[in-house]
Amino acid sequence: MKNSASQLDENMRTASTENSTRAKKKRVYFDCEKCPAFCCSVYERVSVGDEDLERLAQHFKVSFAEAEKLCTKKWEDERILTRQRDTLLGEACHFLDLQTRACTIYDARPETCRDYPTQNRCAYFDLLQFERKHQGDPEALPLVQIEFREWKREPRKNTE
Ligand code: SF4
Ligand code: SF4
Repeated sequence: MKNSASQLDENMRTASTENSTRAKKKRVYFDCEKCPAFCCSVYERVSVGDEDLERLAQHFKVSFAEAEKLCTKKWEDERILTRQRDTLLGEACHFLDLQTRACTIYDARPETCRDYPTQNRCAYFDLLQFERKHQGDPEALPLVQIEFREWKREPRKNTE
């Protein structure tokens, strides 16, 4: 997910030293600089483990308990990052800069954010590129909501 200044997430961007190093190892097919941080908005729950929280505590120079109070909330048994209203995408992570669409705690972001999207493609970036190309508008912004449902295909009836 996105960083605040000019650094690029090693999974998402290509300009930072860290990312350039990784890019040499693994080519990626998305550019977070051209995206409004969809991933920092669409996922309602970004899990925060103890190591994540320790990193956040160091970042904010507060105690573990204070960092927990400052940065997280409970969702069932899970500790997750807090959220904020976002006029562009409805809601977003509390730590997303809504103007620049970059992460304000980039160096201290949780592991989940570091790993995302875990592959060398980002499904949203592919969609973004597709729509912008097909609409002839380099600034078009497709809005997508992800919902998960259980579904199993029924065997087809033999009509003969
Ligand atoms: S901490 Fe928030 S803003 Fe930063 S990368 Fe993670 S989800 Fe995005
Ligand atoms: S949705 Fe994809 S392209 Fe956009 S910021 Fe996240 S990882 Fe980068």
